[in-house]
Amino acid sequence: SLVIISLVVVVFVLVLLASLSVYMETKLNSATKWVDHTHQVLSTIEKFQNNLIRAESAQRGYFVLRAARFLNDRENAVDLARVNIREIEALTLDNNKQIHYLKTLQDLFAQRVAMFIKTQAISDTLGSIPAAHYFVEGADISNRLQHVTKNMIDEENGLLTARNAKESKSLRLAHASFILLGVSLTLVLLLLARRIVRDLGAQEQAIEVLRRSRDELETRNQYQARMLRSEALIQIASRIAHFGGWMADLETDQVSWSEEVCDIYAVSHGTTPTIADASQFYVDKGRVSLTHLFNTCVRDGTPYDQEVEILTASKRQGWVRITGEAVRDTTGLVIQIRGGIQDISERKRSEANAVRQAALLTATLESITDAFVMVDRQWHFKYLNHEAERLLQISSGQVLGTSLWDIFSEAVGGQYAREYHRAIAQNCSVAFEEYDGKLKIWMEIRAYPSEEGLAIYFLDISQRKAMEGELHALAFYDALTTLPNRQLLLDRIEKAVALSRRTGRFGAVLFIDLDNFKGINDTRGHDEGDMLLKLVANRLKESVRVSDTVARLGGDEFVVLLEDLADAEKEAADNAGGVGEKILNSFGKPFEIIYQEHYSSASIGIAIFGGPSITSEDVLKQADLAMYQAKASGRNAMSFFLPEMQALVTARVAMVTDLRHALTRNEFLLYFQPQSDVQGRMTGAEALVRWNHPVRGLVMPAEFISIAEETGLIMPLGLWVLSTACVQLARWAKSPETEMFSMSVNVSASQFHHLDFVDQVVKILIDTGANPARLKLELTESLLIKDVEGTIRKMHALKAMGIGFSLDDFGTGYSSLSYLQRLPLDELKIDKVFIQDFADEQQGAIIIRMVVALGKAFNLDVVAEGVETAEQYAFVVEEGCKAYQGYLYSKPLPKLALEAFILEQ
Ligand code: C2E
Ligand code: CA
Ligand code: CA
Repeated sequence: SLVIISLVVVVFVLVLLASLSVYMETKLNSATKWVDHTHQVLSTIEKFQNNLIRAESAQRGYFVLRAARFLNDRENAVDLARVNIREIEALTLDNNKQIHYLKTLQDLFAQRVAMFIKTQAISDTLGSIPAAHYFVEGADISNRLQHVTKNMIDEENGLLTARNAKESKSLRLAHASFILLGVSLTLVLLLLARRIVRDLGAQEQAIEVLRRSRDELETRNQYQARMLRSEALIQIASRIAHFGGWMADLETDQVSWSEEVCDIYAVSHGTTPTIADASQFYVDKGRVSLTHLFNTCVRDGTPYDQEVEILTASKRQGWVRITGEAVRDTTGLVIQIRGGIQDISERKRSEANAVRQAALLTATLESITDAFVMVDRQWHFKYLNHEAERLLQISSGQVLGTSLWDIFSEAVGGQYAREYHRAIAQNCSVAFEEYDGKLKIWMEIRAYPSEEGLAIYFLDISQRKAMEGELHALAFYDALTTLPNRQLLLDRIEKAVALSRRTGRFGAVLFIDLDNFKGINDTRGHDEGDMLLKLVANRLKESVRVSDTVARLGGDEFVVLLEDLADAEKEAADNAGGVGEKILNSFGKPFEIIYQEHYSSASIGIAIFGGPSITSEDVLKQADLAMYQAKASGRNAMSFFLPEMQALVTARVAMVTDLRHALTRNEFLLYFQPQSDVQGRMTGAEALVRWNHPVRGLVMPAEFISIAEETGLIMPLGLWVLSTACVQLARWAKSPETEMFSMSVNVSASQFHHLDFVDQVVKILIDTGANPARLKLELTESLLIKDVEGTIRKMHALKAMGIGFSLDDFGTGYSSLSYLQRLPLDELKIDKVFIQDFADEQQGAIIIRMVVALGKAFNLDVVAEGVETAEQYAFVVEEGCKAYQGYLYSKPLPKLALEAFILEQ
């Protein structure tokens, strides 16, 4: 029975368990069913969301890339989303809340789809910027859609959680029953437990779904933020582009403007004028054509795109580009015109500016006197002005578009090409001068690179170049001989001196002065003198190396510069001496001037440079000094510069200074050298000047007369001598022993040539009361070098007063018998060299004999000068001289000694 009882119990328990089990089973089954259901709802919403996102990104893709495939994508996604909505609708028939949400969802979805289409249409007709507005509106709808779907998911999740809670309560109850039913039913309990475990898994699955939808939501929020950001960017862009949208509602006759449009017209945001009012902003002609376009669009939907001038509310003039398109209702009636407006004033202004600038530039380029050529970076001609056509001898028509190097192929590889490539490569302007062998002109070229290419200016500078050349020749070359002149010579010496200082090599300067050049100039005229100078120049050039410089300093002075002669001074001097010899020898041959042979010699002074520092001026001065030395040593000679010469020069300079004061300081003395006839009777005296220098003592005339002549001091000095001598002559006239004495006075050529000379002599004669018939003026042959006719006239004038003339130093100059005949002379004075020479060389004797014969022929007295010995006296007397003068008779004597000498006689 127990068993029965137990069995009954067991059966009861089993039945209980079975019924419990059945109960549990049904409970669990229903739980599984709604978990699945909820899951299905959630996943459908999820699908919907995904499809919506797909549709949006496809639309966005189209917006950006305008590829038709995006539109297909969008259509597909929209279709799928629509199916999803229907599925949700089917799943949520029993849930009032979801049904409520579903309605909103359907409504928003419809709006979203409409917005897709609208955005696309605007973007197709007006472009992306005006479409952006609708795009953002679409995004807003999407946002609301997301909100609804989130609510639906929340609702579904809430349901899930609530049901789960209820279910687990009844399950716990069942558990208690099972525990009460005993351990024997563990198997059943285990079975139950397994079920519970399974339930828990389902629960977790639901939570997982929940989490996924939360993640999804987050992604969506991020996406939305991105959308808002790009919307902001689009707004900024349209502000910057001055681009706005407009819409004219035909029904209400109202125009709506976006904020940008309001800004363009300078009206407050939100202004909504009538269509007629809105058109008032367009200026005259623009307004007419725009009204026409608008009306056409209203009539048949023709879109338009027009640029018109506007006058804004703030009276600003400007330009806008305006587009318009028709919007139709479902019946196809045009109900709205809308479009975009962009302020293009700036562009219009710069266009107008560019046109003006271009015109100005063309005018400028045509008017500039430089030739101007523009080439692009491929060297193709882009522009040439008239001057360029003229100068380059090409025409725009021929060359425009062709390559510079095709037209000027000869320039390839030359300086033009090098400089132009450099200008482009280094992006720097270049300027250079070039002789164009083809065009035969000198060009100055300046080229300026730019992104467009190279702007090249040409200037014909042939004239300037020619002038520069001429000026250079004028400034640095002697016009007669074409040799370098003094300036160029000094420059070359300076360089040579500087170089020798560096290299330590010696060089030399040869100063060459023609002997007696004045002679040929005066006797044969300046033209022939010039010819001689040219011949001399050539001969000098032939005597030196090509690298040496032959220059003409002026007059008959030439200089040869020998550079880089030797390492040692001695050797350099030898070499320079060799060149000097060569030059002197070359003068041995006659110069042929107009079929006449002319002999000329030269005196050469040589200065060596190198070693210690010396200036170019000094080198030249040293050579000049040495030349004087050569002249003094008897001409046709060559002399090296020696330091002593410098001292001489220094002394000479000092003497010039002293000489200037000598007259006022009464430092001159007049000596008298008595003259005698052959019977030893005194006949008169020659006045000879002395200088009683305060430091140097008595200075002889040989030392200072030439200086006095050079400095012009000879004029006052000569007058002093003449008047002092005349005073003496007047005194002699007072005493019977001396009244017959004559007075010889030396007159320098320059003194005699002085304009006032005759008047001065007359004045002195009057002042002193001297008898002109006792006065004898001693002239030298050098007097005849200049102005022979004038000299003869002057002599006759003086002669007319009774003054006598003596030709001094006769035989040393180039006496010409024809002159001798024409001059009113009284006396010839044989130079003392012949008197003193005659014993050693018979030459002197011959000359003396000749002069005496001449004197006889021309009826002139002949006076022998410098007779020192009885032998000489005897000879001159024997030869027929009537008078003599010399140490043998008396030395020149100061006044007191002369008086004593006369008394002695
Ligand atoms: P000169 O006219 O030929 O004068 C003659 C020179 O011979 C004088 O030299 C005289 O002292 C010198 N003499 C005279 N007898 C002898 C002699 O027996 N043996 C030697 N060895 N010499 C003798 P001095 O006085 O030195 O004059 C030199 C030259 O200076 C003159 O040469 C003359 O050309 C010039 N001179 C002198 N006084 C004047 C002057 O007042 N005016 C100008 N223009 N020249 C003057
Ligand atoms: Ca004399
Ligand atoms: Ca003399």
